[in-house]
Amino acid sequence: MASLIVCHACDLVHRRGPIADPGRVRCARCHAELYRTNSAGIDTAIALAVTASVLLLLSNVYPLVALQLNGTTRETTLLGAALGLYAQGYGAIGALVLLTTVLIPLFQISTLLYVLLPLRMYRRAPRQRELFHALTRLRPWAMPEVFMLGALVALVKLSAMAQVVPGISLFCYGALMLTLAALTSVTPTAQFWQWVEGSRT
Ligand SMILES: [Zn+2]
Repeated sequence: MASLIVCHACDLVHRRGPIADPGRVRCARCHAELYRTNSAGIDTAIALAVTASVLLLLSNVYPLVALQLNGTTRETTLLGAALGLYAQGYGAIGALVLLTTVLIPLFQISTLLYVLLPLRMYRRAPRQRELFHALTRLRPWAMPEVFMLGALVALVKLSAMAQVVPGISLFCYGALMLTLAALTSVTPTAQFWQWVEGSRT
């Protein structure tokens, strides 16, 4: 971790020292926030990542929604929704849905587990630095909340035409959205390097 930190508001350079209490570290001159330290430990991050992986699995296995119309019922899964878009000629949108709702969250969860589990035992996973950098770059592309909002709007509109039964996957995906938000907030970059630093001792 760098030992110097520059205030983004006034460019004052600070030396990074040991912090007694978790909280916000502010600039000595203009009081802008330099960074936050987290009270959550590595165990919390691992627990959240394991929870997220179970929720991601469940939301892909169970049906997302079932539509009942004229006595027939049709169900679809998260993957089926992306494939359905592809089949109707919206290949690019289908790929984007698959990437932002399944593949990037999967990469996010598996990378964190891959680097955090060895750190928990004071070891280092091979290529942890490159993987964590890739993770921080890809994080803005995980958009479960955008998908949830879109799905809910579509379901409300569809309910005028057919009977809509929300599936287990929809509830799991809603819980996954909250778990991923919590996971991102307990694993900021500065916190990760602090854990790496701690694993050296
Ligand atoms: Zn400042």
